[in-house]
Amino acid sequence: MTRKVSHLYVLKFGGSSVANLSKIRRVADIISAYRRKRYKIVVVVSAMGDTTDKLLHLAFKLNPSPPERELDMLISTGEQASAALLAMALKSKGIEAISFSGHQAGVLTDLSHTKARILEIEPRRLKQALLKEKVVVVAGFQGKTPYDDISTLGRGGSDLSAVALAHVLGADRCIIYTDVEGVFTADPRIVKEAEKINCISFDEMLELASKGTQVMQARAIEVAKKYNITLEVRSTFSNKGGTIIKSKQSLEEAVVRGISLTEKEAKITICNLPDRPGIAAEVFQRLSAENINVDMIVQNVSRNKITDISFTVDKAEARKAFDSARLISHKIKAGEVLYDEDIAKVSIVGIGMRSHSGVAAKMFKALAKARVNIEMISTSEISISCVVRKKEGKVAAGVLHKAFGLGR
Ligand code: ASP
Ligand code: MG
Repeated sequence: MTRKVSHLYVLKFGGSSVANLSKIRRVADIISAYRRKRYKIVVVVSAMGDTTDKLLHLAFKLNPSPPERELDMLISTGEQASAALLAMALKSKGIEAISFSGHQAGVLTDLSHTKARILEIEPRRLKQALLKEKVVVVAGFQGKTPYDDISTLGRGGSDLSAVALAHVLGADRCIIYTDVEGVFTADPRIVKEAEKINCISFDEMLELASKGTQVMQARAIEVAKKYNITLEVRSTFSNKGGTIIKSKQSLEEAVVRGISLTEKEAKITICNLPDRPGIAAEVFQRLSAENINVDMIVQNVSRNKITDISFTVDKAEARKAFDSARLISHKIKAGEVLYDEDIAKVSIVGIGMRSHSGVAAKMFKALAKARVNIEMISTSEISISCVVRKKEGKVAAGVLHKAFGLGR
């Protein structure tokens, strides 16, 4: 017999919310307040503070290309530690709780270690524990492969664990607790006029996240959109309401809802490519065969059947991409391959763009006025991104925030 558990909340606490023991106690207090209202609670936790980075650092010191299966064995321990500690903290406050690894929680993934996809979740043990009125604490970011190995879901993957569990358990709410009060019109550390957004659509949030806004993992938002799971992002350290992320917007559709800035990409340029059909296909097929995600692409106008192609990739994959670009260039008899890490990408995002014209012109004009040179441009239906020099990224974010009338 399967029955939907009523008033079930899935709460996710990020690494900064469980960074030390006093913070873990605070999280236990938040959970205890929900329990007093008799909600059934599933908690998903990240690793404490920057544990994942530290573990990765150790791995790469021992071996510059560590086996990915072993990486997953290693980095999944961070979440297991915080899950166990939180369960202990809850018990010490008289709250019945039990922690589970991703494996025990029934999270089955594919075989792509370090960026595995969830295939299905068999939450039998979670349901049993909920029936016994226990708070269920699940180690985020992890699952098991069909070979029974531990897998992880990509950086920031605890968000995905939370959203996926909210879906399979039919939760009434999914709340993402973090160290900021919600989603802002721009990063408040960079643009001081930035304001909290009360409500944002999945599409806008997805676009912001994939363009560098760090509040939530983009894949998690994708899944929330797919299954229409309304999310709330709010702070562990304040009582203020956060940002609601959902499918329908209110009547007002901002032309630009928010700005994001990222310095996480690098630009690779292959010079002097023969300009004939099939060349771009060859270049990008090769990159995709190596599982490298290419973001922006620009091809220059050809002179004498010779052209240049630039593209951006995540810095984490940039060296690999650079090496393959050099191999490709050699193979197709193109020229030099250039590598540039000193770039920033600034993006404006808003659903209202669909029905407004002149948004791009306004963006470029604002950047020009601030003497920021644009190196690459890409657009989607609800966003426009520009690559600029890294040192100009913050200025660019500030002037765009102002130009589109965001914030105070
Ligand atoms: N601890 C993992 C990371 O830092 C997963 C997460 O925090 O969601 O990427
Ligand atoms: Mg984290």
